[in-house]
Amino acid sequence: MTTQYVYDFSEGDKDQKDLLGGKGANLAEMTRLGLPVPPGFTITTEACREYLAAGAEPGALHVQITTALRKLEDDLGKILGDANDPLLVSVRSGAKFSMPGMMETVLNVGLNDKSVNGLAKVSSNERFAWDSYRRLIQMFGKTVLDIEGEVFSEALQHLKDRAGVTSDVDLSPENLRELVDSFKAIVKEHTGRDFPQDPREQLDLAILAVFNSWNTPRAALYRRRERISHDLGTAVNICSMVFGNLGDTSGTGVAFTRDPASGKTGAYGDYLSNAQGEDVVAGIRNTLSLEDMKRIDEKSYTELMATMRKLETHYRDLCDIEFTVEKGKLWMLQTRVGKRTAAAAFRIATQLVDEHLISMDEALTRVTGSQLAQLMFPQFDSANQVKPVAVGMAASPGAAVGRAVFDSKTAVEWAERGERVVLVRRETNPDDLEGMIAANGILTSRGGKTSHAAVVARGMGKTCVCGADEVDVNVNEKCARVGDLEIREGDMISIDGSTGQVFTGELQVVPSPVSNYLEHGLDHAVATADHETAELVRAVDRILKHADSVRRLRVRTNADTADDSRWARKLGAEGIGLCRTEHMFLGDRRVLIERVILAGNQEEQNHALEALLPMQQSDFEQILDAMNELPVTIRLLDPPLHEFLPDRSELMVEVALGKERGHDVSHQELLLAAVDRLHESNPMLGLRGVRLGIVIPGLFVLQVRAIAQAAIERIRRGGHPKVEIMIPLVGSVMELHLIRDEIDQVIKEISTRENIDLQFAIGTMIELPRAALTAQRIAEAAEFFSFGTNDLTQTTWGFSRDDVEAAFFANYLDKGIFTVSPFESLDIDGVGALVKIAVEKGRATRPGIKLGVCGEHGGDPESIKFFHEVGLDYVSCSPFRVPVARLEAGRVKVLQG
Ligand code: PEP
Ligand code: MG
Repeated sequence: MTTQYVYDFSEGDKDQKDLLGGKGANLAEMTRLGLPVPPGFTITTEACREYLAAGAEPGALHVQITTALRKLEDDLGKILGDANDPLLVSVRSGAKFSMPGMMETVLNVGLNDKSVNGLAKVSSNERFAWDSYRRLIQMFGKTVLDIEGEVFSEALQHLKDRAGVTSDVDLSPENLRELVDSFKAIVKEHTGRDFPQDPREQLDLAILAVFNSWNTPRAALYRRRERISHDLGTAVNICSMVFGNLGDTSGTGVAFTRDPASGKTGAYGDYLSNAQGEDVVAGIRNTLSLEDMKRIDEKSYTELMATMRKLETHYRDLCDIEFTVEKGKLWMLQTRVGKRTAAAAFRIATQLVDEHLISMDEALTRVTGSQLAQLMFPQFDSANQVKPVAVGMAASPGAAVGRAVFDSKTAVEWAERGERVVLVRRETNPDDLEGMIAANGILTSRGGKTSHAAVVARGMGKTCVCGADEVDVNVNEKCARVGDLEIREGDMISIDGSTGQVFTGELQVVPSPVSNYLEHGLDHAVATADHETAELVRAVDRILKHADSVRRLRVRTNADTADDSRWARKLGAEGIGLCRTEHMFLGDRRVLIERVILAGNQEEQNHALEALLPMQQSDFEQILDAMNELPVTIRLLDPPLHEFLPDRSELMVEVALGKERGHDVSHQELLLAAVDRLHESNPMLGLRGVRLGIVIPGLFVLQVRAIAQAAIERIRRGGHPKVEIMIPLVGSVMELHLIRDEIDQVIKEISTRENIDLQFAIGTMIELPRAALTAQRIAEAAEFFSFGTNDLTQTTWGFSRDDVEAAFFANYLDKGIFTVSPFESLDIDGVGALVKIAVEKGRATRPGIKLGVCGEHGGDPESIKFFHEVGLDYVSCSPFRVPVARLEAGRVKVLQG
């Protein structure tokens, strides 16, 4: 059977996004619902993939398009490009995931030298017909024939100057005919051939151009950033044209069923009367609100509201739509579950629960950990009491401070040299993507909340104020004027994406209401908040508590101090999964560890170790006190010892200078000798972790004594310490046996001496491939495993974790070798496979073995999903990420069971 590459809008549904793309699947769904969708058909992503792979369209496609087109013509009683009453179509891209403005669209396909007259006749509007024709040649020229867009805009500007008009709408039909002639001449000059007059040829070429636009550099960059796979391909939607530019009873708009920026209930949208689709999204003219639309055309407005309600009930979520009114008749051109800010996501999810449209479980799946993280970002301090110089639209929340730059190239260059920048543009277009990524925030003077700048910034979670029309941006002179005030390139500005306010200078930032809530509780946060903020904080509270009630994974924190431990507890940590002990040897205490290293014999070394004991003990007491009854995993010393000694070249200079000046440098010389002795070419693969414990007798014993005495002290004071001792960088069970023998003996001695039973769990980190592969042996001597996925990533890939990210990861990301650093999000295929093996082997030996992760991945949403699936007991992450991990652990339980 031949593959079906073409689907009529009446054939598919919303669940076929893989095949029909997001836009196609939703057009089909709306058609099924009986909503007013202009008829049309969708060419599948499969056709695109085959075309891109083979360099030619699949054999069966051409005829299938003919069949679909003839059906469309029959249904509408019109023929594509007919000289008397032409059917015209739009050709639009539509991938599985929305990629706003990244790929191509061609409108008005079917117009040519003859059908333009037919269109003029049936519409009784000559101006409209010629304007539509010139738009076709312009879009087709740019998109299909690869002619620089500028060439067309210059010709248009030239004509306007000659005709003495400033706006396109003031051009006469005569002017537009002339413009069509110059556009056709441009096509001929740049391609050596005439603009194609055959409507079917126009259609076929436009379809291929959409296929090809999947692979433009800007689309590829967008996909990398959004972690969208490069091999999905795009669908192509062929839709009969309806026109919003047929006079005052026509118009076009974009609307949301709720406010996508704040989450406030009630429809929200932008409308332009007498305009064509792309004019709204491009932000070229400032738009009207839906209330204005109601005044202009109440009938269409009422129908639009009813349709939006229907859509929201059907999708049970915020929908965004594009619509056109053609001579008083409403048409739906697109819908999808709308993108929204983090605050809107939480508020809308709980609103829908309260409206009985979704359950709490579903509400949990409607928000993400990274959205919660965004809400924890600091905001401008209201005590700043500074007056804004301008107010635009609050397009994407957050507080951004940086130097004003007026083009993307400068944004990228300045950001690379470490400057914070705010990109200031009249409006943005897809070519600005790199500048937007580099900038802290984006400010535009034109366009609404649905403009390119707003949509893309929201998607990136980047602060954006748009449509601040008091700001007069002059890109050529690299400056902006607000009244008498001038903002020049490099001047500090601050923008507030939650209020739309623009300030000059650098404003102070303060904690957000959500972090206030997390630290001080609901009552405190709500007491000081306005109505909208209170609704947001309550939504976060409800959803987070629900996540806690459903999740299986426990969430611990990585904390090395009592302060961090207390902070993490407030944020919901259920224990410490990693207490690194190395900082306890830094600062004033570094000299003591120096003495351990420099000791000439065992006795001297023991002495030096002894001096460290009380300090260590007091550190542990404080941490055990802060966590009290919760488990605390303390890791014995891990880094190579040379990290505690001064820098080699500095020492050499000191010795040389000291000698020259006749000072006593014998201590420095000793240190230098020790540095040389301890020098390793690959210290991360050298004398560290358990190897230190084995080579330097007494080192781990000292730490264990300090821990045991601290626990005794806590117990005597009525505490309930739950200590777990963890050995790092184990590769062989023999290492663990040796260290355990020593540790067990110390614990026993102290227990007996103090007459208090100490029950410490002793376990190991799994940080080396060999440890994972021999986990069945290692589990013989370990009561728990904690995956050190930082080192495990380093040792699995052979990447030096301290060097490679800065050295060549950008290049790797660029080439698509991975879409995100494996140090940030777990490499599931490689490192994940080792984790899985170790889990299985560890449990085979010791079924009840406790399993956790304490590498950076413990707080990464994607990795948390994997840790849940593979059956770990807990994740441990930095305090700030604890709430994110709680939420994600709940989400994955609901989504995967
Ligand atoms: C790890 O390797 O994942 C880990 C948690 O230990 P560290 O980062 O201290 O090496
Ligand atoms: Mg490690």
